[in-house]
Amino acid sequence: MLSVFSVVKSEMDFALTAEQELFRKSVRDFVQKEVAPVAAELDERAQFPMALFRKCGQLGYFGLRYPESAGGLGADFTTFCLMAEEIARGSLSLAAAVSMQCLMGTDFVYRFGTDDHKSRLLAPALAGEKIGTIAMTEPDFGSDLGGIKTRAVKDGDDWILTGRKMWITSATVADFFTVAAKTDPEAGFKGIDMFLVEKGMPGLSVGKRIEKLGVRASETSELILEEVRVPAANLLGPVGTGFRNLGAILAEIRTMTGALALGLAEAVIESSIKYSHERAQFGKPIAAYQAIAHKIAEMGAQLEAARGLVHRAAWQIEQGKPDMKLASMAKLVATEAANKAADECTRIFGSYGFAMEYDAQRYFRDARFLLYGGGTSEILRGIIAKEMGV
Ligand SMILES: Cc1cc2nc3c(=O)[nH]c(=O)nc-3n(C[C@H](O)[C@H](O)[C@H](O)COP(=O)(O)OP(=O)(O)OC[C@H]3O[C@@H](n4cnc5c(N)ncnc54)[C@H](O)[C@@H]3O)c2cc1C
Repeated sequence: MLSVFSVVKSEMDFALTAEQELFRKSVRDFVQKEVAPVAAELDERAQFPMALFRKCGQLGYFGLRYPESAGGLGADFTTFCLMAEEIARGSLSLAAAVSMQCLMGTDFVYRFGTDDHKSRLLAPALAGEKIGTIAMTEPDFGSDLGGIKTRAVKDGDDWILTGRKMWITSATVADFFTVAAKTDPEAGFKGIDMFLVEKGMPGLSVGKRIEKLGVRASETSELILEEVRVPAANLLGPVGTGFRNLGAILAEIRTMTGALALGLAEAVIESSIKYSHERAQFGKPIAAYQAIAHKIAEMGAQLEAARGLVHRAAWQIEQGKPDMKLASMAKLVATEAANKAADECTRIFGSYGFAMEYDAQRYFRDARFLLYGGGTSEILRGIIAKEMGV
């Protein structure tokens, strides 16, 4: 059966299809009704938003980019980005947890898991009943993934994993983890492989929870592996291909993060416009002052420039030709634009931008999250320069 998302544009145009518009509206309605009104409370409580997360699963969001044969909806990548954008517009905390589940947290199991993994873990994860995440970063290795120290040593038919992971999204609530480990410590990136590790496996424990500046309702913590024995079938992909297989979804990760940034920037702009009309100084609304109006105009211009890049990068992915330069540019431009807009928003709010009672400070704190995963701005500039032949 053809899904409603099967209309894929073969030529780049700037209009969304009717299906994409309809889908965007349905996510926006859900977010406006159920997410935005509780976003401040979620941030304050700083706990994983389980009820809303499960609801996203029931709505089919986690399976959006997977084919129907895997329990997904077979949507095009632009549709997937629209979902990320709309949820981020309501709560970047929820969007962080959702995007992990939709992409990095489940993709290796989808591509390399056994039928048993798929029926026991992937299918329930796409329905929102189980939670998956990816564990690559370590206390001493972030951007420099090739240096990771977590080891996977063959023992009979099994692998024994030992190491410590850091900054793992949803680890506190996750049922399964895609863990990056070195099968060959001498081989740099080529010595990295991905392993499926399940909650409850002896030797696996969740360490310290990290108190964060932003996206506080997306829980993040350490993950400790002490001689965790996993069966050979839990090696996700042929030996030596973990990093290459990560590379295959890197353009998607960067483009999706760009889409998250669009959503946050939209919330920021909306809030800035509203406040600038409500707040009056020297006898007129601050919106009447060019200094304020131009800040908002600049935010809008940067948002649209970023949107163009995100949609172009998404289109390349849909064509089966992911473009790393474009995806890196999309992430760089969109996340920097969102951070700049959030900064300006707190200035437009004056001292109320400093008050916890208003959303401006949450946008400012949450925006920082966009700068790390999928490559920092410094790393992205390096990649773009290299792709440009610099
Ligand atoms: C909220 C949150 C959630 C996260 N979730 C996960 C997760 O679920 N799983 C996971 O595996 N990881 C996760 N991460 C980790 C994230 O992927 C890393 O933070 C990221 O890779 C950057 O690594 P680092 O923080 O160690 O910074 P470092 O790599 O130590 O970088 C420090 C600084 O040096 C710069 N730098 C480093 N190398 C270079 C270079 N070659 N050229 C120029 N500048 C350079 C960086 O840009 C940065 O400014 C998460 C992080 C955060 C904040």
